[in-house]
Amino acid sequence: MTTTTTTPEGIRPVTATRVLVLNSGSSSVKYQLLDMRDRSRLAVGLVERIGEETSRLVHTPPAGGAGKREQTGPIADHGAALKAVAAELAADGLGLDSPELAVIGHRVVHGGQKFTAPTLVTEEVMAEIERLVPVAPLHNPANISGIRTAQALRPDLPQVAVFDTAFHTTMPEYAARYAIDVATADAHRIRRYGFHGTSHAYVSRETARLLGRAPEDTNVIVLHLGNGASASAVRGGRCVDTSMGLTPLEGLVMGTRSGDIDPAVTFHLMRVAGMSADEIDVLLNKKSGMVGLCGDNDMREITRRMGEGDRQARLAFDIYIHRLKKYIGAYYAILGRVDAVAFTAGVGENAAAVREAAVDGLEELGLAVDGGLNAVRADEPRLISPAYARVAVAVVPTDEELEIATQAYALVTG
Ligand code: AMP
Repeated sequence: MTTTTTTPEGIRPVTATRVLVLNSGSSSVKYQLLDMRDRSRLAVGLVERIGEETSRLVHTPPAGGAGKREQTGPIADHGAALKAVAAELAADGLGLDSPELAVIGHRVVHGGQKFTAPTLVTEEVMAEIERLVPVAPLHNPANISGIRTAQALRPDLPQVAVFDTAFHTTMPEYAARYAIDVATADAHRIRRYGFHGTSHAYVSRETARLLGRAPEDTNVIVLHLGNGASASAVRGGRCVDTSMGLTPLEGLVMGTRSGDIDPAVTFHLMRVAGMSADEIDVLLNKKSGMVGLCGDNDMREITRRMGEGDRQARLAFDIYIHRLKKYIGAYYAILGRVDAVAFTAGVGENAAAVREAAVDGLEELGLAVDGGLNAVRADEPRLISPAYARVAVAVVPTDEELEIATQAYALVTG
């Protein structure tokens, strides 16, 4: 089928079916090339430690290809990284100059209140992403650099920004606002934005599909538990609350982030410990959470230590679960009716002990986990609740790249 679309060049038909997804971090670029005819992955890879002497590119070609390839050596910046990626893709006959490439989809972390949907990149859009740098100082500059690099490589191609915050822009004002002075909040754009939105959108929809229900008629609590972690309450396909806030620090206990704390902890530390704002930033974002509590942020290691009777690991696990339960309870109350609780991301998809503990004792809420089903390891979405449970408990692997590709492709093909 041939459809028309608006590109930087104007209106032209889109018959191409490939989408390149770029997730640019401050010193890394993750990429995937997908074919939207069957949503298959043609290539997957990662460039890390950009700007260092020991940059590394790991490229996995399409199935049946020559296998994973790796190169190390200095890669100066995002521009050089994307050129190296383009060379790897070209070696597999998947060059970025191919007419098969329809669009480049970019993960952009912060879209503020303005970007509620995937957006075709224009200079105006770039300026707005730039204006949001003060609320996402680590992420948005890297995303901007990724987009600029891709534009330089293929100026003729549409670039689409898919925002981590977009799915959460449906939160009602009473969920999005902090109870602080309105003028101060508005002057500095302080409100709850939420993150991991692409994952929450994808997983809530896939959960409805797993239940055989329409997303518009399904209420889901999504628990995205990775190294970063967030929960969301999704009513009829729309987010009504989420646990991350102005930044990804709020909410659940994470690998290295504290999640919710009394904000007075910050000025207390300034006054009594003489710590600077930057030092507290590092403490709460990098040295807290599971790593701060027990020295490890990998749930595999934490559960292994617990098995050996390690009390520090046990306490960290209990704190993690206690916070998770609070959010399940809170979002249950907000939704009123819950059809499913869905676990996703590294911990949510793999750590059966976390899933079991998180719903333990919640039978009165209709929540239970079947030990046998919970122990099964699989890549497919699956139910782990017993047949009698009123609320489904599901494991639904997230796929943010596929969601970005789907949204970007839909935008350019109409
Ligand atoms: P993500 O940020 O979604 O990639 O998740 C990464 C985290 O998932 C790691 O830090 C681990 O804590 C956790 N994880 C990954 N694999 C497993 C596993 N097999 N069992 C338990 N936790 C896991």
